[in-house]
Amino acid sequence: MFGWHGRLLQVDLSAGRARTESLPEEWLHHYLGGRGLAVRLFRDFFQIEPYSPEMPLLFATGPLGATAAPTAERMAVVSRSPLTRTLYDCSVGGRFAQQLKCAGFDVVQIDGRAAVPMVLAITPSGAELLPADSLWGSTVSTTIAALNGRGSVVAIGPAGEHLVPFATIVTDDGNAADRGGLGAVMGSKRLKAVVVSGAKLPEIADPARFERAHNDILRLFRAAPVLFGELGLGAYGTPTLVDLLAQRRMTPTENFCKTFFAAAANYSGPALRAACTPHKVGCCGCPVQCQKVTADGAYLPGYEALSHFGALNNIGDLTAIITAIRTCHELGLDPVSAAATLATWGEVRGAFPTAAELVPLLHDLVWRRGAGEQLCAGSRQLALAAGKPQVSMSVKGLELPAYDPRGAYGMALAYCTNNHGGCHLGAYPLAHEILRKPAPTDRFSFAGKARMIKIAEDINAAIDSLVACKFAFLGAGIEEYAELLAAVTGVDFTPERLKEIGERIYLTERWYNDVNGFSVIDDCLPERFFREAGSSGDGIEVPPLDRARFDEELQKYYRMRGLDAHGRFVDRNFLVSLPC
Ligand code: SF4
Repeated sequence: MFGWHGRLLQVDLSAGRARTESLPEEWLHHYLGGRGLAVRLFRDFFQIEPYSPEMPLLFATGPLGATAAPTAERMAVVSRSPLTRTLYDCSVGGRFAQQLKCAGFDVVQIDGRAAVPMVLAITPSGAELLPADSLWGSTVSTTIAALNGRGSVVAIGPAGEHLVPFATIVTDDGNAADRGGLGAVMGSKRLKAVVVSGAKLPEIADPARFERAHNDILRLFRAAPVLFGELGLGAYGTPTLVDLLAQRRMTPTENFCKTFFAAAANYSGPALRAACTPHKVGCCGCPVQCQKVTADGAYLPGYEALSHFGALNNIGDLTAIITAIRTCHELGLDPVSAAATLATWGEVRGAFPTAAELVPLLHDLVWRRGAGEQLCAGSRQLALAAGKPQVSMSVKGLELPAYDPRGAYGMALAYCTNNHGGCHLGAYPLAHEILRKPAPTDRFSFAGKARMIKIAEDINAAIDSLVACKFAFLGAGIEEYAELLAAVTGVDFTPERLKEIGERIYLTERWYNDVNGFSVIDDCLPERFFREAGSSGDGIEVPPLDRARFDEELQKYYRMRGLDAHGRFVDRNFLVSLPC
């Protein structure tokens, strides 16, 4: 078999043993890897409680991993989220995915709960559990440094140990499974870190065809200003979006009460470059290199974290913002949910946190003391407890990222139809509504958005299963990646087949939600967006969303998906209809 090893490493932390299982070839052809393969593997587990020992935590690579396919050194980290209670997948770049593939495994499935804290060490010959008492309580960087030399590492911080439902799993090269609280699932298993080393590169079915497809993709990357242009992701990283979204009056400000923050310029791409003189780095083998580090090796934050500790909390102090985000990294906290929860708390108490309050509040949140007792469960629970559920700016419990939906109607719809909550990455409408790729659309219109969101969700589910980076598709397309996949695997994958696979993955996740009680009630935006206008100005009007048009487009979307008016499956035998 080319592209996959067909091997799953199953680790039972309760019993302290590991074994290798074969993955059916049929599953790999119908679900690919990463998110898709995890969705198939979760068929017996999706109703189990997130912190139950029986709930698996998966690290799943894809068929393009370790092949030099551009942006494809990634994996999906997947489990049931304690924050949203849906299945949750994070696409994570970096060396860990490559090393796991080179160790000879497509997937690692971690079950059970260790009696005492452990580190899992994976090599081509299997797995070993190492005591981690001395690391329990340590920050992320201390843990990673202690395991240096054993291979590539992922680790949790104190937030994961304390079961904060938006805790992260951080890699040794600055990436993270950052949203949805999968670090808390790992903490509930008393697993402090996983380290993996491998050396065997997978074989490619047709190297000459691979080379041609690879070169085509690189040519398309180079021709895309959003990737390699003067103000592109390669030049400034995602902070290049700070100015772009400010100009479009889409910056969520003061817990989404406003959509423009004058001090955003303090943490824009050019401001960061002037203050920190960063150089470029990126995920293993990626030519775009959209990440930035300072001369002393410290990673600079991305757009969403900067904007939420900045505008969302009404803070313009660059040093305070970066310090807060680094604190989140060390504690193993999702900076987007952490900042959004602080903003919700700020609205409830009638004063947003000051720059000086940020770091102490983050520590209090993790150790559940003082205001931290309210903050530690996330914005939805905090707002409910305060009797003001409307001030949690979340969908399905997931705090919204830094794109105000009153300025992009496809985004408004996509936040709601995303299977795991208010995330922009499921359909990534930012591409056509703001970045004008592959073609520009009218951001202040719902017309046609149901179909665009449905198609994009299906394609992105396939991309997350390759596992490739969404940014690659601001240059190349699904056609080039289908060609690359066919070259690697020797299987006749076409763009149409990838879309079919993506649809199967999306609908299976939606089915899991349906069985777990989710419906149209959960596919809704916070009331504020329908009642309050954003910050108009500079010739741009930002009115509230039209609820009737939103509902109409959501119903269109349901019909395209074959769902009923409540967003539920008409065919109660959906799973039986799947090929495997
Ligand atoms: S574009 Fe950026 S996030 Fe995507 S793979 Fe490359 S370096 Fe990683």
